[in-house]
Amino acid sequence: MYVDSHCHLDFPELAGDLPALLCRMAEHGVSHALCISVELPEFPKVLALAEAHAELYATVGVHPDYPETTEPTVQHLVRLATHPKVVGIGETGLDYYRLSGDLEWQRERFRVHVQAAQACGKPLVIHTRNAAGDTLAILRELGGNPAGGVFHCFTEDWATASAALELGFHLSISGIVTFKNATVVKEVARRCPLDRLLIETDAPYLAPVPHRGKRNEPAFVRFVGEEIARLKEVPPEVIAAVTRENFWRLFGIARA
Ligand SMILES: [Zn+2]
Repeated sequence: MYVDSHCHLDFPELAGDLPALLCRMAEHGVSHALCISVELPEFPKVLALAEAHAELYATVGVHPDYPETTEPTVQHLVRLATHPKVVGIGETGLDYYRLSGDLEWQRERFRVHVQAAQACGKPLVIHTRNAAGDTLAILRELGGNPAGGVFHCFTEDWATASAALELGFHLSISGIVTFKNATVVKEVARRCPLDRLLIETDAPYLAPVPHRGKRNEPAFVRFVGEEIARLKEVPPEVIAAVTRENFWRLFGIARA
């Protein structure tokens, strides 16, 4: 059985289709999925999914690509994270690709999330794009996170992967690894130690081959696992088992 460590089931592309999505997860051998928060006004929807369905969990956080939304405080994040089905802080991080100009507000928002994760003892779900140096620098400046975390939808090179692993973080590989020209992501997937590897869809985006270009959904995390198994030359069941085990351990969930 697989676990999808990162998806957005509250987004309009998916929200109306939930019963069918959960059904196809079961059909594809995907036992659980983590619904990722991107901004506080929408967090109640993410939490409601996790409350209503045993196979879904939630995180709380504010994505760096939302400049105009409610700014989180450490106290607010910590309070929302006390819910038993909220298992992580994020997604948070830095994105110098989609936004430009003075992005000190992004770095400050990221620091707030790191401090909240430290305060509540939960792992961080990190988004970083064109900003790996600053993302790692802020984590180092604040002393990392004792509960660790994950660099989600990892697309950086092996040097950045090593630095993230060195800081105690996991790497989550998305459907990009199934794209023919994704040589760097394939290399990272091949070299990432099994005990630090997670897999995800980032649904509704980034559908893996053979569904590339279409709407993505948690059931498709299986195709991510199968491609990584091919790259690592191990049976798919091994990738399913270790990524599932890593998910339980990182997010502190009693094994289902
Ligand atoms: Zn995401």
